[in-house]
Amino acid sequence: MFLVTFLSSCGKAPEPLYQEQILALGALIDITIWGVAPDAAQQAADQIAEDFNHIHTTWHAWKPSPLTRLNAHLNDTVAYTPEAELLPLLAQAKQLSLNSGNLFNPAIGKLVAAWGFQGDEPKGPPPDAKTVAALVAAQPSMEQVHLAGNSVQSSNPAVQLDLGAIGQGYAVDVAIAHLRKLGIHNAIVNASGDIRVIGKRGTRPWRIGIRDPRGPGIIASIELQGDESIVTSGTYERYFDYQGKRYHHIIDPRSGYPARGTVSVTVVHNNATTADAASTALLVAGPAQWQRVARAMGIKQVMLIDEQEIVHIDPLLAKRIHFETKTQPRMKISAPL
Ligand code: ADP
Ligand code: MG
Repeated sequence: MFLVTFLSSCGKAPEPLYQEQILALGALIDITIWGVAPDAAQQAADQIAEDFNHIHTTWHAWKPSPLTRLNAHLNDTVAYTPEAELLPLLAQAKQLSLNSGNLFNPAIGKLVAAWGFQGDEPKGPPPDAKTVAALVAAQPSMEQVHLAGNSVQSSNPAVQLDLGAIGQGYAVDVAIAHLRKLGIHNAIVNASGDIRVIGKRGTRPWRIGIRDPRGPGIIASIELQGDESIVTSGTYERYFDYQGKRYHHIIDPRSGYPARGTVSVTVVHNNATTADAASTALLVAGPAQWQRVARAMGIKQVMLIDEQEIVHIDPLLAKRIHFETKTQPRMKISAPL
């Protein structure tokens, strides 16, 4: 979990703030709602928990699910018609993948599986170099995933879909849309660091803390209001150690190996699905290429922390973020995105 929310009520009279933590998508989801009667808020939170669990089972990459069925039929000679609810996110993921120059590439399911990250407890050993090279040479990409009407077909047998890099952001967007439908206009949904806020906390903006990638505690905080998302991808979220080396779960589709050079990427954008795809793509892009990829994806606010603990940040986000560490980190402010 990476981002946390500050919710102390500063000793004043209690405010109409409802908070609930649910376990879904294999992770803790924090739901915070302001200005609604407790029973209505509780009902809304219950419905959102159902949304998260439904999305979890629909998109599960290794337990039998609509997605694993689609993967099994991707190369059928007659195009396969998956469960209709898969289609909107597949179309969105394809567009985001193309915009990212394939650095966010949900077609690399075989690589993710080869590294053991399609499993409950990744533990190695890493795949051998030949296996990795063959999976990279096969060049699976979303360009080869053809979406026509209700059907899906891949023209490359190497393609297997893994929406792990975007699923949580998508679930957060679905949850926010659901809250709005219920007439709730001031809330935060936080799925392990994929956050979207709507409205305000009364008269104040929502204040969000960004966890320090080096350990416990907060590296920075930011105020969000209206309709904004903040999403972080980090190499410490999922990894295994093998013979003294650490291997994390964000794979560079160009090399087939865990992306190097970056520890975490935080993206602020209006929706969480796009921000989630972008945070993965920019982590793969790394310190030398993140600005180009952010521009290609229409992302304007980014903070990237590299392996030397240098904070690379664009001027817009630099202006609104407050570092909470004792000493100001080393910063590299980029040109505007
Ligand atoms: P985090 O867990 O820190 O939020 P991401 O959002 O980047 O991380 O999601 C990582 C997951 O996405 C991996 O576990 C894997 O399932 C999948 N994945 C890994 N590398 C890529 C990539 N280059 N493009 C798309 N999906 C990826
Ligand atoms: Mg992501």
